[in-house]
Amino acid sequence: MKLTCINSGSAGNCYLLDSGTSILILELGVPLHDIKVALNFNLTHVCGAVVTHEHLDHRKAIGNASKAGIDIYTSKGTIDALNISSHRVKAVPAMKSFMIGEFRVMPFDVRHDCKEPFGYMIHHEQCGNVLFVTDSFYVPYTFPNLNNIIVEANYCEQIMADKFLGGDLSKLIRDRVMKSHMSLKTCQDLLRANDLKAVNNIVLIHLSDSNSNEKVFKKKIQDQTGKNVHIAKKNMTIDFSKTPF
Ligand SMILES: [Zn+2]
Ligand SMILES: [Zn+2]
Repeated sequence: MKLTCINSGSAGNCYLLDSGTSILILELGVPLHDIKVALNFNLTHVCGAVVTHEHLDHRKAIGNASKAGIDIYTSKGTIDALNISSHRVKAVPAMKSFMIGEFRVMPFDVRHDCKEPFGYMIHHEQCGNVLFVTDSFYVPYTFPNLNNIIVEANYCEQIMADKFLGGDLSKLIRDRVMKSHMSLKTCQDLLRANDLKAVNNIVLIHLSDSNSNEKVFKKKIQDQTGKNVHIAKKNMTIDFSKTPF
């Protein structure tokens, strides 16, 4: 299994899980053209896409991807918020697993400033159980038997507090970020709350351009977990197999 990051962050989010015979797209927050380029204009192995919520940086290509024949799965709240009526865009309920090609997918609810945001648990025999969480200031669950993790680490409390006190950040924006995105500390707490013994990779995504520090984030999570920690970058591809235990 390979994980490709087409882009990550408020400029756009899109990740590919590629088993060699089946490709699941996580988020459609980039132009469809960028996805096509990453796939060498060959969409035949694409089995579908999951979208977490209605913000532009996660769903920009929904219209064009559905017109290109890609089946897209998201919450009913997201579909309502976007007023979509394509038969390619399918509402799925939280806490019920279903198959997309070779992948078993289970949506769960997260906490973000939008209508019905989802995170996803994804299973494939090559990568095991993958936790995918973004745009959530808190995750109310723990997850059993994890093998790989893709999780938001948006901002550092200290960087944001310093900017606010220095007058470089408005109270409005600070409060919005804190009530919608995942801080490094919350990300660390989430990792601490879960059993990581079979986890191979932890990929940190959706880092804030101005309130994060990738080197510090990577080191802190590495020191805490002892795992392979990656910062999601444009056009990055990593091996995303599960560790053979
Ligand atoms: Zn976002
Ligand atoms: Zn969002």
